[in-house]
Amino acid sequence: MVNQKAYELGSKRSVIREIFEYAKKRSEEIGAENVFDFSIGNPSVPAPAAVNETICRLVTQTPSVALHGYTSAQGDKTVRDTIAAKLQSRFGVEITGDLLYMICGAAASLTIALHALTVNEGDEFIVFAPFFTEYRVFVEGAGAKLIALPSNEALLPDFKALKSALNPRVRGVLINSPNNPSGVVYGQNTLEELAEILRAASKEYGQPIYLISDEPYRELIYDETTKVPFPMTVYDDTVVCYSYSKALSLPGERIGYIAVSPKAKEKSKLYAAVCGAGRKLGFVCAPALFQRVAAECDGLTGDLSVYKKNRDLLYGILTDCGFSCVYPDGAFYLFMKSPEADAYAFCERAKKYGLLFVPSDDFGCKGFVRIAYCVATERIESAKKRFEMLAKEYGLQ
Ligand code: PLP
Repeated sequence: MVNQKAYELGSKRSVIREIFEYAKKRSEEIGAENVFDFSIGNPSVPAPAAVNETICRLVTQTPSVALHGYTSAQGDKTVRDTIAAKLQSRFGVEITGDLLYMICGAAASLTIALHALTVNEGDEFIVFAPFFTEYRVFVEGAGAKLIALPSNEALLPDFKALKSALNPRVRGVLINSPNNPSGVVYGQNTLEELAEILRAASKEYGQPIYLISDEPYRELIYDETTKVPFPMTVYDDTVVCYSYSKALSLPGERIGYIAVSPKAKEKSKLYAAVCGAGRKLGFVCAPALFQRVAAECDGLTGDLSVYKKNRDLLYGILTDCGFSCVYPDGAFYLFMKSPEADAYAFCERAKKYGLLFVPSDDFGCKGFVRIAYCVATERIESAKKRFEMLAKEYGLQ
């Protein structure tokens, strides 16, 4: 006998993985040059040089036992203190290393945060569509219920819907900015309005409603005018789930952290619950070498000018073709309106031209596709003609 829920999850791939696998198969059949795989958010720029330099230095200069041995369950103290000091200087928050928990990327940090905050079976966590497909798995895995609310036209939270969804079972609101799949960034005003609503509801129910901020794309913004406010500076009861997967182009190395706000009312209890959830789920002592690499390279990024170039090129091609797109301020995804109501059907048609995107249905909203532009720029240039042919099929050109 096996656990039915785990069996079901494990025997079915996510729609993104499904398309990614299809791309590999198709490349073998018709040649990789004829397959334009815009399905997956795998960083296409190399890690900054400092990453490999740091690895080489650490490996050659640190005694092996010290370098590769267990760290504290919540992460090496020097690592946590270093990252906390950087958060202090970047965002002006009074955070210390004893509120940080080093962890294997955002997926694990979200899982832990959700377990730490779920009090009773059926507690609720609110997200705004479109949202990262795995949120449902993480929330339900913690024994809670995912409440998916709509966004407004600009794909920012629908605050009216939020006000009517809040109730004493809501433990937290989970946001992701810059957003996967839309590329939208929540600005200061959006966060302040959200914070005001959560403060009022927390007061009414006599318990904090947490803001959980999923931030793997924090540094991936392309215009000087785009600012990503640090949620802890706006709302006290915040937990940040950060990952180095995208900024440092290290998704396979599995490193990130959870940061509990120093102003959270229950900060010590919450931090202990994070440690307890990590222990319960077996997420202790994140990869030791990469904890140290993260501490030294925190705040650096790969060459973001490549993503900016890709974004501008792709947005230009698609809008010239007559497609309607959400302008992406950050991350490396472009959200495009499907020219037919059924985004799956549109993706099937695009496949005929070797163009592979992800239909928006699994992101909690219908009628869009996600196009990941973390690819070689040449792939976007070569895809231009195919986008034009696709647009013609819909009479857009
Ligand atoms: N959250 C979002 C919004 C993501 O897009 C991803 C990965 O693509 C994750 C979390 C998981 O990231 P990680 O690789 O750090 O586990």
